[in-house]
Amino acid sequence: MLATRKIQMVDLQGQFKAIQDEVEEGIKEVLQTCQFINGPAVKDLEKGLSKYLNVKAAIPCANGTDALLVALMALGLEPGDEVITVSHTFVATAEVIALLRLKPVFVDVHEDTFNMDVAQLEAAVTVKTRCIIPVHLFGQSVDMEAVMQIANKHDLYVIEDNAQAIGAEVTFGDGSIHKTGTIGHIGCTSFYPSKNLGAYGDAGAIFTNDESLANKLRQIVNHGQRQKYTSECIGVNSRLDSFQAVVLNAKLKHLDRYNSLRREAADYYDQHFAGVEGITTPKRSSFSSHVFHQYTIVVEGDRDAIRGILSERGIPSMVYYPVPIHLQPAYSNWGGANGDLPVTERLAYQGLSLPMHTELTREQQDLVCKTVIECLS
Ligand SMILES: *Cc1c(COP(=O)(O)O)cnc(C)c1O
Repeated sequence: MLATRKIQMVDLQGQFKAIQDEVEEGIKEVLQTCQFINGPAVKDLEKGLSKYLNVKAAIPCANGTDALLVALMALGLEPGDEVITVSHTFVATAEVIALLRLKPVFVDVHEDTFNMDVAQLEAAVTVKTRCIIPVHLFGQSVDMEAVMQIANKHDLYVIEDNAQAIGAEVTFGDGSIHKTGTIGHIGCTSFYPSKNLGAYGDAGAIFTNDESLANKLRQIVNHGQRQKYTSECIGVNSRLDSFQAVVLNAKLKHLDRYNSLRREAADYYDQHFAGVEGITTPKRSSFSSHVFHQYTIVVEGDRDAIRGILSERGIPSMVYYPVPIHLQPAYSNWGGANGDLPVTERLAYQGLSLPMHTELTREQQDLVCKTVIECLS
């Protein structure tokens, strides 16, 4: 049966089967106790996440976009203040900056890692810069040691967008090891179902080691209230429901295994594509482990034609992201133009993400690789 299962970009059924009993049990308990919001499962998730990440505070919220929004709100920035991030990311990263009437400033990414090119970061800092949002794209950390050095030098906040890299580890020059999302002042993640740690609906979380920021973040996710019905600051409603916490508690125990399965699948792709002309495989940074939220190759030639043939032959593929944010209509008033960010723009035309999940079989990967290589020749 399994061998004939259609290849999926993301396949969550195998994971579900392995945790089904625990999830059903937990959901039944929520139904019986009717603690739908902030129930014991949510408290357990807070504890579990802060232990796993080795961070003082883990604050669950409704989704990853809210996590970023709330993080920015907690910094007390003024309209017009500049926030440096990348254009090669999911739109949510820049959306929250724009929503708060802050100004997104984009730096290009490095062609090897698809992550913020830290060599270009300092040149983007102006007197109006207040914050940097590095995005750990596709499962690998930005050079956080360099980011933190620049941030400290210019007195800037750092919010990590860790939606795609939960579980990845960064090794600093002094040998210390840190989980992504715990290095900047605030870390944000998404538990969207297809993420490495995915709920069965929308969910997210915010992390910090700073106690006063933690208090502020907790307040903002709950209407600015510390005490019921007294709003001390303007907040939002971004609570996590107990059902999602049940799923995440069950899956968190398996996260390291999920991530190593992804890494093994990536290694297997790498082997297949080694030395194949017209394909560049994703590079691994020396300072970061890679949890392969996506396995993205760069192809020579007509990427969209290749995708078309792959699709005809039953091989799914995706493009992350086809239109860079600085070229999106909604972001045009910040003056982004073609040619501003050459690497970002090239990746939009030549990047190709292949099926990546914990249930991929080697036979499926053989077929994906064979077909991709045939399409190129
Ligand atoms: C998924 C994602 C988000 C947004 O998370 P949601 O839970 O979908 O709101 C933000 N940034 C990046 C890089 C993402 O991949």
